[in-house]
Amino acid sequence: MIEFIELEPYKTLNETQDAVLTHIPVCMVKDGARHYIMSRTTTLPTDSTRLDACKKELIKNDGRYFMCYGEQPDPEKLIEGMLENGHSFNNPDDLFHCEPPDKQSAGFTDFRGSINDASPVFRYRIYDKSYAVKLRQMAELVNILSRQKNKSGNGGSAVLLSRDGKLMGVIMNPHAMRCQLEGCRAYRASVRWEDGSLTYPCMAGVKAIGNGIYQII
Ligand SMILES: [Zn+2]
Repeated sequence: MIEFIELEPYKTLNETQDAVLTHIPVCMVKDGARHYIMSRTTTLPTDSTRLDACKKELIKNDGRYFMCYGEQPDPEKLIEGMLENGHSFNNPDDLFHCEPPDKQSAGFTDFRGSINDASPVFRYRIYDKSYAVKLRQMAELVNILSRQKNKSGNGGSAVLLSRDGKLMGVIMNPHAMRCQLEGCRAYRASVRWEDGSLTYPCMAGVKAIGNGIYQII
């Protein structure tokens, strides 16, 4: 259960228009903790419209996150789409910004950036810590893949991730040999891992998780 509250208004001077603007900080309250959403400016009707959309999203996902701007309201779908299409972030090392707790808010993580080849900018504000961790892991997968692409310089060879997702290998030859296991008709690939080792996993034991990305099941 979440609810929304408004805090004490504050004023700023807009020098170009020589006008005093009144801002009202709006927060979500969840499990007794206050989370800052945004400040709405009383003279800007668009702020109220934006705020209403944010609240709707937060109610729908139980206060986990909302999209500040962008085209895809669901951050997981955004990353999944990037993996499928082989897109990468323009700002791979600066995707997550943590706002620590203060007296007005329990803090949040912003996931923001822009995407190569597709160009839309996006920003999500995330209140659920484990959800932020999940998005970090997914985004890291995008970064691993684009580093791999840059290294090979040929649009990228397929990569294989270990079962726990922590180790990555390059698939040198997807048809290195026939699998010798009885009843298995699949090929074994030759895979050079980050630690330099070479193995021959059976391709019947991997699943595709994106364009040119496989993971051991
Ligand atoms: Zn096999």
